[in-house]
Amino acid sequence: MAPESEKEARARWCVRKLREAGFKAYFAGGCVRDQILGVTPKDYDIATDARPEVVQRLFDRTVAVGARFGSIAVILDGDQYEVTTFRADAEYLDGRHPSAVRFGTIEEDARRRDFTIGGMYLDPESGRVIDLVGGMRDLRAGIIRAIGDPRDRFKEDRLRVLRGARFAARLDFTIEPATWDAMKSAAPTITEIAAERIGEELVMLMTEGGAARGMDLLRDCGLWAAIVPEVLEMIGCAQPENFHPEGDVWSHTRLGVSMLPRGCTETVAFGILLHDIAKPRCRSVAPGGKITFYGHTERGAEIAAAIMARLRRSNFVQQRVAYLVRDHLRLCMAPRMRRSTLKRMISEDGFDELMQVAMLDAMASSSYLGYWHFCRRAMAEMSAEEIQPRRLIGGNDLIGLGFPPGPRFKEILKEVEDLQLDGALTSREQALDYVRAHHGGASRNPE
Ligand code: ATP
Ligand code: MG
Repeated sequence: MAPESEKEARARWCVRKLREAGFKAYFAGGCVRDQILGVTPKDYDIATDARPEVVQRLFDRTVAVGARFGSIAVILDGDQYEVTTFRADAEYLDGRHPSAVRFGTIEEDARRRDFTIGGMYLDPESGRVIDLVGGMRDLRAGIIRAIGDPRDRFKEDRLRVLRGARFAARLDFTIEPATWDAMKSAAPTITEIAAERIGEELVMLMTEGGAARGMDLLRDCGLWAAIVPEVLEMIGCAQPENFHPEGDVWSHTRLGVSMLPRGCTETVAFGILLHDIAKPRCRSVAPGGKITFYGHTERGAEIAAAIMARLRRSNFVQQRVAYLVRDHLRLCMAPRMRRSTLKRMISEDGFDELMQVAMLDAMASSSYLGYWHFCRRAMAEMSAEEIQPRRLIGGNDLIGLGFPPGPRFKEILKEVEDLQLDGALTSREQALDYVRAHHGGASRNPE
């Protein structure tokens, strides 16, 4: 097992406190699975027979996050620990069957969880695992298996289809055949549940490791078709072999996704997943046989933004992913860029993520990284002040020179800034002289 963290120590303390008050309490679900695997859990969930109102009374700081479903968040040193009363009923979170829960026994609580490996409890004092669903066997064998009748379980909550794929991908487990069949049957109707839930789950699948396998599983069980069908267009979309020996757009993208580090940002993950999303729609073959994808970056940015919006990701995410898709080829031009253009690009918000996407894109095809290193070197060599220096002159200076305020200001200031970034103008005096010489001054604009 992983060494005990402070987070774990506080979770143990919660369990002890509940027990001292006469209740049953255990670590439950994902944290038990992770501890057995020797992985540090993201968070610790506690299951108890104490009712929510009792939990609220026992701890000083609580938030009734899911009180209706028996869940109380206990706040300790800024961390949240979800303490949930044993439940008997499945919660129908799809919004069509809002139901309050019935509280029950630990056996009932285990049966309403989705997969055997996430259906176990741990007594943190003795280290004893309470396994009522065969979770230990499946964890040892590397199997994702639904608890109970898989068809019923996926019908109750279709998000579980995506969760099953996510766990199989992250842990590199196989999916038990009956569970897999039920996943395939339920996948087409996943859109009946809230798009937010799908978006959140898909983000986890793309960022927790094993995302390339996740791509395959979503293709094979029909989830891409239901939630992001655009991704399937990449399959079989042939590319010029000299640039892309790895194969079609899908193979190229999959290879890039396979190199995503565990814990990457969702924007980098979707940036690489969607960087060539418009290639299939922009593909054309010239009379000589040459394959082109003109306009795929612009078009791809639009498609990517629409996909992220459909998944209810934030405006920031939508725009950042669109930027990564639109600009993923721009880095190649860096060595030939005017100095000012290069500096402006480097100081853009999100440029570090653009570098990550460009690296993955290159590693997934030619592996040519000359321009990537060029950018790294430029970033290392130039100070922040050099990349984004204080402006030499501003609007007031132009007014001082006798220019009437107007749209020309922006053009003149941009021109001066370009020259400053290029290194051609280095002082305020030089900048003023330049404007006088090239745009006239008060003389040309008499008041
Ligand atoms: P992760 O490591 O990604 O957090 P997890 O297994 O802890 O994985 P959570 O979403 O944190 O998953 O949920 C905690 C536990 O609650 C799960 O292990 C599972 O037992 C149960 N659970 C969560 N969502 C569902 C669901 N949709 N249907 C049934 N049980 C669920
Ligand atoms: Mg969890």
